[in-house]
Amino acid sequence: MIKLHDKYFKPFLTERQITEAIQKIADEVAADYKDKTPIFVGVLNGAFMFVSDFLKAYAHSCEVSFVKLSSYQGLTSTGIVETLLDPPENIEGRSVIILEDIIDSGRTLQQLVHLFSSSNVKEFKVASLFYKSEVYNGEYTIDYVGIEIPDRFIVGYGLDYKELGRNLKEVYQLNQKHMINLVLFGKPGAGKGTQAEFLKEKYNLKHISTGDVFRYNIKNGTDLGTLAKSYMDKGDLVPDEVTINMLRDEVDKNPEASGFIFDGFPRTKAQAEALDKLLETKNMKINATIALEADDEVLIQRLLERGKVSGRSDDQDEAKIRNRFEEYNQKTAPLMDYYEAQGKFHSVSGIGAIDEITMRLGKVIEEL
Ligand code: AMP
Repeated sequence: MIKLHDKYFKPFLTERQITEAIQKIADEVAADYKDKTPIFVGVLNGAFMFVSDFLKAYAHSCEVSFVKLSSYQGLTSTGIVETLLDPPENIEGRSVIILEDIIDSGRTLQQLVHLFSSSNVKEFKVASLFYKSEVYNGEYTIDYVGIEIPDRFIVGYGLDYKELGRNLKEVYQLNQKHMINLVLFGKPGAGKGTQAEFLKEKYNLKHISTGDVFRYNIKNGTDLGTLAKSYMDKGDLVPDEVTINMLRDEVDKNPEASGFIFDGFPRTKAQAEALDKLLETKNMKINATIALEADDEVLIQRLLERGKVSGRSDDQDEAKIRNRFEEYNQKTAPLMDYYEAQGKFHSVSGIGAIDEITMRLGKVIEEL
């Protein structure tokens, strides 16, 4: 594993695999062009290593040149491609073969085609050492491909992560830290908090309960606590904006966590969308949401019992409890469809002994 700036990368392609892929392209190009003296045009910066090794593997008459597109890489309002290094002159009637290090979406290729479209070349072909076929959505055929690779971020052999890594002889792939991020769903009293305590130990996760964070703030008399109290006392939801900001802070406080259990969040569609966005900016995602299912009447009895011990005012009054269920049915239950649509929704029975329920949850998590 290597570290470039803030990210870790793991070995992906060896020097030997790269050399073999280049030889394969060189042989295929030679079969088509060995009597034609083509002009190979490398696309800077990334392709410099590929061009160098490719030329050593191509033992026939040829010329070489380079282009460099500006980082803006777009067409101006006049339709001109911004370049930092222009295509070679006198290419009219010649066979041009572009040498690219990598083709993914095909955006750069489209600009290259545009760049060469006004010069009357005889033939225009494209050779790419690496090719992400899954994400390519261009209309041009890639004529020669070294290695098809999955849609993961790679560095090395000319390719960089914020300018580092170009000098590596091998290719490395971004190491997506294996995290487990779970959302626990369930009506108040379903056992989310109890189960989260077990799961956090078992899978080394950070447990964030928005209800607990609010109660902590109320106890400590913070502004956030004062604001939240008026809603919580009635069994209403605290406004999304407040809750989302608080949740973001809690996630930010734990950069080293190997995963999170979100308990009591998200409770509305806006919160679910905000959570997805927040995680995306951190290169993380929700892996699964698990609902703990239990009958309303069982839950009411559980909550009233809990209220006697904890003193939580929202657990001591059946009307407030029913209001919280109503909030759940109206605002939170629809989120199951949101996660179902992403293929992330699971449900387990929350009735039974605590360790039995933990086992049911563990079964879902271990199959992720
Ligand atoms: P809980 O401990 O999860 O049952 O939450 C207790 C109370 O805190 C709820 O009834 C809400 O008033 C408030 N609360 C907790 N989480 C959220 C959330 N995600 N959005 C809005 N309000 C919340």
